[in-house]
Amino acid sequence: MSTNPDPDTASAIADQAIGGLANGLETVAIPGPSIVPERIRAAMNRPMPDIYAGDLVDASDTVFAGLPGLVRSPEAQPFVVIGNGHAAWQMAICNTLSRGDTVLACESGRFAVAWGEQAAVSGVKSETLPGRDDGPVDPAALQARLADDRDHEIKAVLVVQTDTATSVRNDIPAIRAAIDAAGHPALLMVDCIASLGCEPYEMTGWGVDVTVAASQKGIMVPPGVAFVWAGPKALEAYHRADLRVGYLDWGPRIDPEVHYYLYAGTPPVPHLYGLREALAMIAEEGLEARWHRHTRLAGAVWAAVGAWSTDGGIRLNIAEPAHRSTAVTTVLTGDIDSEELRRRCQTGAGVTLGSAIGGLGNHFRIGHMGHLNPPMLLGTLGTIEAALVSMGAPLGGSGVGAAAAHLGADFA
Ligand SMILES: *Cc1c(COP(=O)(O)O)cnc(C)c1O
Repeated sequence: MSTNPDPDTASAIADQAIGGLANGLETVAIPGPSIVPERIRAAMNRPMPDIYAGDLVDASDTVFAGLPGLVRSPEAQPFVVIGNGHAAWQMAICNTLSRGDTVLACESGRFAVAWGEQAAVSGVKSETLPGRDDGPVDPAALQARLADDRDHEIKAVLVVQTDTATSVRNDIPAIRAAIDAAGHPALLMVDCIASLGCEPYEMTGWGVDVTVAASQKGIMVPPGVAFVWAGPKALEAYHRADLRVGYLDWGPRIDPEVHYYLYAGTPPVPHLYGLREALAMIAEEGLEARWHRHTRLAGAVWAAVGAWSTDGGIRLNIAEPAHRSTAVTTVLTGDIDSEELRRRCQTGAGVTLGSAIGGLGNHFRIGHMGHLNPPMLLGTLGTIEAALVSMGAPLGGSGVGAAAAHLGADFA
């Protein structure tokens, strides 16, 4: 460490020590990992048990019994992978595809394209269906591309429900309809990593073949486990797939004699207890009530951003309300320095906002997924407003007032 501290740094530290307001609960408002409720942290914090019998096996059974309901698919086979969302992507690809197959990644931001890039490293060809960074995948463009693929070289269509970079929500039933209208047999694989537990989702009802998700966003559990649900067509494709990887192989994980093999080895003990608690919390609230809560809270964010908006200043990246995610919002800040805004929220109030991703210019992201209620969200929005005011940013009006009015409509 330097013995001659930079005078700016020294004075910033002194300011914080004397006048800082950030003591108190820290607020992480990034789009995952999201806030982990105390109930889940407490459930995870326990001594290591017997992993072959007793309560841990009960917890594992409860988790597996609860997973199909999360995606509304009694028939889907759930898999738990110890890893993050990228591990679930890999599991989906390597159990259903073969070397030389083509996947079509539908662009609507960053994440489906990244899934396709990861698949390409494993030996499939990845093609991107070009899309926008301010709107959803165009079902007509997908239908046209699939209709052109007369030899059915495309074996899987990869799409995200919510893209966490752009905060767009894709219309999964419309994508299914486009595949059907083209008469194409490709598997439909949907990344719900950001949206599961937040956005309405019907794996069976919407004809999805593979769903992937992870623990650390709408499911409220720390990062470290991810999920894949395989529908009947995907399980059939498994028998032809030659990309299979020992650790991720579905075969030994389906109906194993010893529950140890559900995880291809030692289970993720704290996560299983955390997931059991999370599933209990989700059941107590009700999945549909949860979807409704996310819609209402997201509406408050949109109301706030709408009130702040000015020409050349702040606005929502996704203009059309029907295309907006209810789990994350990408806010464009025009000429306002979004990194400085994030810094002020962090040092001034202990609020961490999601950083900019990719080529959208000045922007930040607000995660509003999982364990969240009006005081938590209003605190974040109020902090953003305070930081904007402190920067002399042009504002159309009070976002906090607009958000409060929106939420107040639900108070009886
Ligand atoms: C977070 C996220 C990912 C990546 O998940 P990791 O756990 O970081 O691997 C992929 N897709 C979407 C839509 C996400 O939000």
